[in-house]
Amino acid sequence: MTPSASPDRSSPPAAGGIPQSDTLRQYHHLREELQAAVQRVFQSGWFILGREVKAFEEEFARYCGAARAVGVGSGTAALTLALQAVGVRPGDQVLTAPNTAFPTAAAILACGARPAFADIDEASFTLDPDEVARRITPETKAIVPVHLYGHPADMTRLLPIAEERGIPIVEDACQAHGARLNGRHPGTFGAAGCFSFYPSKNLGAYGDAGMILTSRDDVAEKLTYLRNYGQTRRYYHDHQGINSRLDELQAALLRVKLPHLDSWVQARRDHAASYRDLLAGSPVGLPSEAAGILHSYHQFVIRIARRDELLDALRRRGIQALIHYPVPLHFQKALASLGHQKGDFPVAERVAGEILSLPLFPELSREERERVAQCVNDFLGSP
Ligand SMILES: *Cc1c(COP(=O)(O)O)cnc(C)c1O
Repeated sequence: MTPSASPDRSSPPAAGGIPQSDTLRQYHHLREELQAAVQRVFQSGWFILGREVKAFEEEFARYCGAARAVGVGSGTAALTLALQAVGVRPGDQVLTAPNTAFPTAAAILACGARPAFADIDEASFTLDPDEVARRITPETKAIVPVHLYGHPADMTRLLPIAEERGIPIVEDACQAHGARLNGRHPGTFGAAGCFSFYPSKNLGAYGDAGMILTSRDDVAEKLTYLRNYGQTRRYYHDHQGINSRLDELQAALLRVKLPHLDSWVQARRDHAASYRDLLAGSPVGLPSEAAGILHSYHQFVIRIARRDELLDALRRRGIQALIHYPVPLHFQKALASLGHQKGDFPVAERVAGEILSLPLFPELSREERERVAQCVNDFLGSP
């Protein structure tokens, strides 16, 4: 299978167009506070593992209702170190979804482990618990549910499946800041929960940054030395580790943004509701929101059979849409050695050919939403 979108289909629109996401509008709102935070760090003369990181770890843990938080260099590093901290070793197998961002697999590979997949539930785009139960083998040493697009995976059913077999869950919550499942934050259900603060995420830094939440003191303790060359006290390396730390600048900038997260998620939800109204009655598949779930709409993903044609029609009108993701992981060349074939994960494969993420970010205007919806409706009106 070849990627169904050529690279130029994902390039940003020219001036006057509508981007799929936009970090600049947010920056303009917060400019003064952000600049004050940068000044504070510069003047402190302290850039690695200092007060800002500690304060942001505490603030993010409190926001999510988690006992502990450990800041790291990226979402990929968060997943890698969390898997190691719960005991994943080279040669182990880690079970995840085939329709996730490649970094989920990159983290498993970075542990020397082998990614394995279970198919997804077609409505929520997240792991199907029955499929997970069916795919677990004696080599499965961790399960990584992905709260894709901001829709939490079915943790209520996944937790007992994992617990019965003594397999730890490491949540990939990299797209789910600010979502809820029965009132609880994603990332607080498993042995560890991993977040990315990549600039376009619901809570984005100005560079790479990541965080792990855990309620287990042993996991938190391991993470604090794994991220810091295995160092338990200065110049004493009792363990093997890497360098992957959240830095003071990113932590200070994220502290400015965290208090706005709930209002940004609310704005995303309002825009999603508005898209639903504007697209009501059209044959496109709209995102579902299972009972008990507060979807944080990192992406608003529609389904349509003539997806590539719609993508081109939007692009011609200066509207940028993206496909998250065009190639299921089991078809990625880097994972060819796993030996998968077409039909191994039919739901994920079918979905990959039909999904499209419309422009969505908190500052998206009513006029822009109407232009996007109009374009979709015009396209569907055309034969
Ligand atoms: C963004 C993302 C990651 C990786 O985060 P980085 O900070 O870019 O390393 C992992 N998993 C998912 C689902 C993501 O969306």
